[in-house]
Amino acid sequence: MTLSWTHLASDGAARLGRLHTAHGDVETPVFMPVGTAGTVKAMTADAVRATGTKLILGNTYHLMLRPGAERVARLGGLHRMMDWPGPILTDSGGFQVFSLAGLRTLDKDGVTFRSHIDGSPHRLTPEASIDIQHKLDATITMALDECTPFPATEDEARTSMELSMRWAARCRDAFVARPGYGLFGINQGGVFLDLRARSADTLGKIGFEGYAVGGLAVGEGQATMLSILEGVVPRLPEEKPRYLMGVGTPDDIFGAVARGVDMFDCVIPTRAGRTARAYTRAGVFNLRNARFAADDRPLDPACLCPACTRHPRGYLHHLFKAEEMLGPMLLTWHNLTYYQDLMRGLRAAIVEGRFAGHATTVRAGWTAQEDA
Ligand SMILES: [Zn+2]
Repeated sequence: MTLSWTHLASDGAARLGRLHTAHGDVETPVFMPVGTAGTVKAMTADAVRATGTKLILGNTYHLMLRPGAERVARLGGLHRMMDWPGPILTDSGGFQVFSLAGLRTLDKDGVTFRSHIDGSPHRLTPEASIDIQHKLDATITMALDECTPFPATEDEARTSMELSMRWAARCRDAFVARPGYGLFGINQGGVFLDLRARSADTLGKIGFEGYAVGGLAVGEGQATMLSILEGVVPRLPEEKPRYLMGVGTPDDIFGAVARGVDMFDCVIPTRAGRTARAYTRAGVFNLRNARFAADDRPLDPACLCPACTRHPRGYLHHLFKAEEMLGPMLLTWHNLTYYQDLMRGLRAAIVEGRFAGHATTVRAGWTAQEDA
């Protein structure tokens, strides 16, 4: 039996569900912290678990270049290496190849590129991406797609989407089914709803354990992103999980959950944590700001993380001013705790049929403006 998903409750289009995987069950909607290079930066595995995280993401592009998929496999796979027995999703590597790699050549079979680390040549095809993710021991494998650039004309978006759909079918063929493991297809089509709809239909015919929406949050703006989700999500198979890739802020997550999305990943809480920006129930704070220097209050009084329960704001401010590594560690811990608390609150609201009111209340709390 491959990875599956059970639909437990609905409130409008928002859904509560449970993912069943070889590495344990996960309630959805779920937020996945990003563990780019085999680590959620600045966090031990125990610390990540303490935030309430159940599912994490690894980046195929970074891991294939360093330490390399073969070496990860020899070290026991990502789960063993990272001390993360829970489920792990890996991306296909495509997004980083298209966004980070400077020199790259795309052809109908794949993409050839140079490593950003040492300039060495590499090639990613649908089959190679699936094989690498298998060696990494990803619980959830993502199909290789071309991330359509933004902005793109309708013709460019169509050509790109059609290539991604041919690659999706090849990924399906290459994927080795194992109990509790799964392969997700990725919807593309830029900002063109008819292309998105065709892509959704094609993916549904191929058949995947889950369906991602890719190529959003790339500069099109939140209103466009949400309107695309409104059009495309209802066309994805209802009994499978839906994953919005690379999104987003707490506000984006509320908007997408309200439109039926079940899974999210984003670097925001971890990256913000390393740069002194804290996501809290009162909004976003920049702890480098001088107004926190003598502030003896907890960062977020309702938060149970160590940054909030054991230290005053003034100490967190000091850590960043003094460039102590504990600053990024504590603030990453806090931001991930905030995101996981947000997801838990939102799941409870769906079960109790009060999602819309809950979203309004939480949003109303975000009164603080981040001042750089
Ligand atoms: Zn906290």
